Amino acid sequence: MIRENVERLLKELPPGVELEAAAKTRTAEEIMEAIRAGVKIIGENYIGDVKKVYPVIGKKVRWHFIGTPETQKHDLLRKKNLEIFDMIETIDSVEIAEEIDKRCKSIGKVMPVLIEINSGREPQKSGVMPEDVETLIRKIARLKNIKIMGLMTMGPRFGNPEDSRPYFIETKKIFDKIKKLNIPNVEMKYLSMGMTNSYRIAIEEGANIVRIGTKIFGERKK
Ligand SMILES: *Cc1c(COP(=O)(O)O)cnc(C)c1O
Repeated sequence: MIRENVERLLKELPPGVELEAAAKTRTAEEIMEAIRAGVKIIGENYIGDVKKVYPVIGKKVRWHFIGTPETQKHDLLRKKNLEIFDMIETIDSVEIAEEIDKRCKSIGKVMPVLIEINSGREPQKSGVMPEDVETLIRKIARLKNIKIMGLMTMGPRFGNPEDSRPYFIETKKIFDKIKKLNIPNVEMKYLSMGMTNSYRIAIEEGANIVRIGTKIFGERKK
């Protein structure tokens, strides 16, 4: 099932759009099946999951952190875990960026990151408010052991994917605006948006990474 799902998705995605398998709660066996079918990026939300699956899978794919850094800071900042991740997609404050920068400096790594946008302006959700993105990026861009590579957004959850479109459009506008500013140490390359329900709309609006869980692995049990 997983293999067929991945193959179908890879056929469907236009050139230049990368498939990231959102793997929270999935076993190493499930993730391996996705990798054998062609998945090259694994997105994980929880360090606890990474502990279980990384030792089996290792460095044959790119690992992206897509969880909330603040709630798992202690674990995320461990040398071992910072070494595992090829990108952190969910940076939304100078404070967390500074802590990651400091630890990365001590282990001799430059961490590629995306800035998470709270495109729905939902008070309880993570991500920086659209109007604060530029200021935040200018501050984080000064950190030497972090490299901003683009933006990520979740957007509000809707039954009808079409309702997500305005939030993707807004995030893409910010992406283009920041890109034009040519801020030193900022390379606006990746726009990570769209999940199982909304990835087609996200691609139409400029996403070049889509984070897909359910459509690859099936419904989550937990
Ligand atoms: C779970 C998750 C996804 C994928 O969600 P699905 O609806 O299962 O495709 C994408 N992004 C993040 C940050 C997630 O936590």
